[in-house]
Amino acid sequence: MARTASVPSPSRLWIRNPLAVFTANGLEAGGGLVVSEGKIAELVPAGGQPSAPCDETFDAGRHVLLPGLVNTHHHFYQTLTRAWGPVANAPLFPWLQNLYPVWARLTPESLELAVEVALAELLLSGCTTAADHHYLFPAGLQDAIDVEAAVVRRMGMRATLTRGSMTLGEDEGGLPPRSTVQDPETILADSERLIRQYHEPGEGAVIQIALAPCSPFSVTKEIMAESAALAEKHDVRLHTHLAETLDEEDFCREMFGLRTVDYLESVGWLGSRTWLGHGIHFDDGEIARLGAAGTAVAHCPTSNMRLGSGTARVLELEAAGVPVGLGVDGSASNDASNMVLEARQALYLQRLRYGADVPVERALGWATRGSAAVLGRADIGQLAPGLQADVAMFTLDELRFSGSHDPVAALLLCGADRADRVMVGGTWRVVDGAIPGLDVAGLAAKHTAAARKLIAG
Ligand SMILES: [Zn+2]
Repeated sequence: MARTASVPSPSRLWIRNPLAVFTANGLEAGGGLVVSEGKIAELVPAGGQPSAPCDETFDAGRHVLLPGLVNTHHHFYQTLTRAWGPVANAPLFPWLQNLYPVWARLTPESLELAVEVALAELLLSGCTTAADHHYLFPAGLQDAIDVEAAVVRRMGMRATLTRGSMTLGEDEGGLPPRSTVQDPETILADSERLIRQYHEPGEGAVIQIALAPCSPFSVTKEIMAESAALAEKHDVRLHTHLAETLDEEDFCREMFGLRTVDYLESVGWLGSRTWLGHGIHFDDGEIARLGAAGTAVAHCPTSNMRLGSGTARVLELEAAGVPVGLGVDGSASNDASNMVLEARQALYLQRLRYGADVPVERALGWATRGSAAVLGRADIGQLAPGLQADVAMFTLDELRFSGSHDPVAALLLCGADRADRVMVGGTWRVVDGAIPGLDVAGLAAKHTAAARKLIAG
């Protein structure tokens, strides 16, 4: 496995005079920003100088600066089943039912490769923090989250790793096969172990743990309620899929006699500790209730379009007080892990719903500050003094940008797909469009072989 070399940051680095900056908070930083000890020490106004001498400067005259992008919903393991023919044109339920038996064959080795591919892809697209929802723990893969944590650390990114779970097998009216579900005692004991072992509660955290029963159609109400109690005990966040498709809404009505938000409330999840993957099929009253509770939504536009699931009512959710961020979702329903392209998709999907005056900056805001709020983090997602020095820098040198005028708008409108430089906590993790020390061709060869083996069975 390739190791990611890190280049230590100097004690004061001035990223000087960028082509353009989006700070995600209205603060002005036309002269760039100063990084010290892993944090943003100060923003420099246009034409200004840092308040104290700097040991090093990086001339950012070709670069558009953004806060490091934050991905709020993913299933890293799914990079192994991208664009698989049998489900290339399927909606959610048959898509899942065809894939569950394949995923049940995951091994620690194939998962490790999948996580490394997903994180490398995200990092190269300007993402510095990623949430992953992992809910498959077949025999031999009980340490899945431990495998993920090791790769996150090696890549030098930040992650919220969610301990997912499935308890409602086909034989009990659920969707997943019995071989992929676990008993509640095992799930809760492992959840507590992972929180104690990995969860960093404070500022600058590299790894956080959240609890994430998979979806209404794959878990019992008991594990939802027990997970909520455990999350409260340890002050960690809660995550699940909700209101993704109308099939799911029908399932909730038939199985529990409730609509999705009533179901959420009935298991103690309607609160500010919770973020929901998708959040599409809510009525006006449900949006108001989610907003009042401060429950957050991870908007996953590409996945929603790919599976034909529907369009989240993002502007109305935000107006009601719901924090909204973006997620690329699992790489078998996207089928990419590219955060900057996801911001473009979000912009266009929401313009289809609300009209062309949804600003580019609003979509960039969902991908940065909004996503950070969804993960419950105030230390990332913006460029501001005192926050973590997580920065994504894009050049406009490719042909697709030729003739563009507004550099920030050009990122989304011309379709930027790759960062030139990415910094996480003051350390460069992408340099000249590449991850130092990562053998991409070697990784892809091993990952492809693992993907073929998984499908072959
Ligand atoms: Zn998902």
